[in-house]
Amino acid sequence: MTTAARDPLGPPPRDPAQAHWDPAAQTMDPELRRLLQDQRVKELVARVIATPVPLFGAKLAEAGISSAGDVTGVDDLAAIPLTVKQDLRDSEAAVPPWGEYRFTDPRACVRLGTSTGTTGAPTITAWTRHDIWVEYESGARNWWRMGYRPGMIVTHAHPAYLYGGGTMLQGSYEYFGLLSIWVPPPDTDELAEQAVRFWTRVRPDIPFMGFATGRFLEVADKLGIPRADAGLTGLKAPPGFGLGRGMPLMTAGAECYAYVGGPCGQSAGAHIHEDWAVVQAVDPATGREVPDGEWGNLVVTTLDRDNGLLRYDLEEACAIVRDPCPCGETSARGMWGGRFKDLLSCQGTRFQVAELEAALRSVPELVSPTLEYQVVRPAGDDRPLRLRAEAVVAGPSGTSGVPAAASREALAQRCAAAISENLGVSCHIELLERDTLPRAGYKSVRVVEEE
Ligand SMILES: [Zn+2]
Repeated sequence: MTTAARDPLGPPPRDPAQAHWDPAAQTMDPELRRLLQDQRVKELVARVIATPVPLFGAKLAEAGISSAGDVTGVDDLAAIPLTVKQDLRDSEAAVPPWGEYRFTDPRACVRLGTSTGTTGAPTITAWTRHDIWVEYESGARNWWRMGYRPGMIVTHAHPAYLYGGGTMLQGSYEYFGLLSIWVPPPDTDELAEQAVRFWTRVRPDIPFMGFATGRFLEVADKLGIPRADAGLTGLKAPPGFGLGRGMPLMTAGAECYAYVGGPCGQSAGAHIHEDWAVVQAVDPATGREVPDGEWGNLVVTTLDRDNGLLRYDLEEACAIVRDPCPCGETSARGMWGGRFKDLLSCQGTRFQVAELEAALRSVPELVSPTLEYQVVRPAGDDRPLRLRAEAVVAGPSGTSGVPAAASREALAQRCAAAISENLGVSCHIELLERDTLPRAGYKSVRVVEEE
């Protein structure tokens, strides 16, 4: 019996030494890939009309498109109005619970997830087996680029249950052939301890790396468990981080395209899986793409899925570059510049929370074992930016703890100088003792509203 027949849940095995997971797709002639995209855009439009899918049907009508024959492919997307998260939310509210943007009966699907709801009521995503397979194959390209190979032990701490991202990640690891240790998000010290203690029993080959890395380090230190015993040493960022501007565009969210691309580490940005999506940096005023390398709205049209999204504007910043990459992949690459909702405006300057965080990371007293801070959302005027951060400083006696008034003041000034230097804004920073700010097991709340 062949491996494929014995393992119907997994992909055919491949040579661990080969450069790409799916060479045919990843090194395809860009002109042929563009023809494939054109064909798949036409199929998507035909399905919107034939199914019908009322939400997207209305968008096509606005663009004067009444049949698949009215479009030739990717070039015609610019005329189709964008769809944003609020449109999906409104559609679900008007025609509960599913709204009018599904391409299939929800009962044709096998998995459901909701968005995290960090920016409003969560919407529902439903995946068919085929849609899950598209994500798993896309994830496999990413894991292969990162140097993962079947047979390795990995670990992650994604949230589960109604949130779809954790199940997607766990499933994609299993599909790829990894042994995945799924630990709970470290919302509390007790939950973090479960993970740290388990990693001392079964140590992952690839150390934990995620939003909550600092939490696990913090709790391991508190428990007196050597970081090396839990595999928490040798941590490093994935390839491609720190190259170029922004971050590699690795996800368009579980609701749209969880594994839209991944970095190879040889050039800035992430290789986009263009056979399964048209990813564009769009000027929302015109609907047209901005020039390559410039920031625009991240707009994704998913291709060859049972449940697709047409011209979905994630309201996040992205930039696309198309110069050749020495790794041999032929796709465009994407850079991610953050959510527009997370942009802060202060003293005439706009910046991302991530940029503020990068400035704070240059101050050693703030980052060990984790950087914990909150910024009060600025009102967009000329007042100093208000921040609070936990700090550990040697006091006059040389002991760790709350600094004496003089050194605390000096540290606050150094923090303010780092922010001024990196962002060009003045700030007032309040230094707190460790363990003062709330902790989160997944994404921390960094921006708080004015009290
Ligand atoms: Zn590359």
